[in-house]
Amino acid sequence: MDDSEGPTEKRIETRAVHAGQTPDDETGALMTPIHANSTYVQDAPGEHRGYEYSRTGNPTRTDLEANLASLEGGAYGRAFSSGMGAINTVLNLLESGDHVVTGEDVYGGTHRIFTQVYEEYDIDFSFVDMTDLSEIEDAFEEDTELLWLETPTNPLMSVVDIAGASEIAHAHDALCAIDNTFATPYLQRPLELGADVVCHSLTKYLGGHSDVVAGALVTDDEELDDRLGFYQNSVGATPGPFDCFLVLRGTKTLPVRMDRHCENARKIASWLDEHDAVERVYYPGLESHPGHEIAATQMDDFGGMLSFELDGSLEQASMLVTETEVFTLAESLGGVESLIEQPAPMTHAAIPKEERIAAGLTDSLIRVSVGLENVEDQIADLEQAIDTAVN
Ligand SMILES: *Cc1c(COP(=O)(O)O)cnc(C)c1O
Repeated sequence: MDDSEGPTEKRIETRAVHAGQTPDDETGALMTPIHANSTYVQDAPGEHRGYEYSRTGNPTRTDLEANLASLEGGAYGRAFSSGMGAINTVLNLLESGDHVVTGEDVYGGTHRIFTQVYEEYDIDFSFVDMTDLSEIEDAFEEDTELLWLETPTNPLMSVVDIAGASEIAHAHDALCAIDNTFATPYLQRPLELGADVVCHSLTKYLGGHSDVVAGALVTDDEELDDRLGFYQNSVGATPGPFDCFLVLRGTKTLPVRMDRHCENARKIASWLDEHDAVERVYYPGLESHPGHEIAATQMDDFGGMLSFELDGSLEQASMLVTETEVFTLAESLGGVESLIEQPAPMTHAAIPKEERIAAGLTDSLIRVSVGLENVEDQIADLEQAIDTAVN
């Protein structure tokens, strides 16, 4: 992976381990200490040593924010107490009367904050098929201030052309924000492709161990970062130092974890693709996936998430997901352990049935977050669960 930007810019595996962190000046502690602390001594009124109060800034958070900014190739990082806290902060930039263009299959929590919180504040949202750039273009209005997109999407792994979409946003003087949670900066760096701000649920691959909830925003634009920083401090959805420490521990191994997530997912996708009881497989690494070509140009690999449709009923798919042993039945994704879920009665239950099926989210659709267990064990587990479900 060659993403060096100059003679002194280290590659991403090196930055994952080191960026933002230096041994503690006073003690020599190699790891960033957990600064469990709310306030800071001042040498004279208004004369502090860089920190005043931990909502505004905390040294453990500072290291994490610098690490995340470096991974995304941006100058400025901001950490939040959840992915939703990060998303909310971007929406704080809007005013009543503004309009937002976004994808019809955005993350459920994002859809909820758009339609149940910000629509109440008189902000309008258009939900379109983001895989079609002309639909994005057509959705822009006079007052469109923000294009919000995800790629690959959840759970059908649709791929959006980031460079093409951000060009449209900029032609309309709108901001282009990308939720990069599924791909991670190891596989896809939206700022390099023209996006203005990148958003993360650190809860997923960046934390990587299913033990912390956190979020982040990264940008290369100083003025935009100042505005985001104002809302970060004013609204206060900031993470505690222990959470920052956990994420920082996770990001160090992001590259090696992602390599294995991708390798296992690729093998499982090919195996499922050949299985008689599987109707179709959604994985951008498969050449048959409609977004494969764009994914191959804007991603370095295809990720650890995939979905498949069982040739069977909702009940049979429910049986499949309860029969697995290596794959745990749970929502969320991106941890070292494999997870399996059925969108229809679980993550996507809030969508009316007809709308859900029209969007391709059929009753027998199953989503998996491929973990780091041995891939032969993962495949054997899916095989026995499919056999039990369909026979
Ligand atoms: C989980 C998730 C979020 C929300 O993040 P939280 O950390 O749960 O608040 C946003 N976007 C995507 C794509 C996610 O998977």
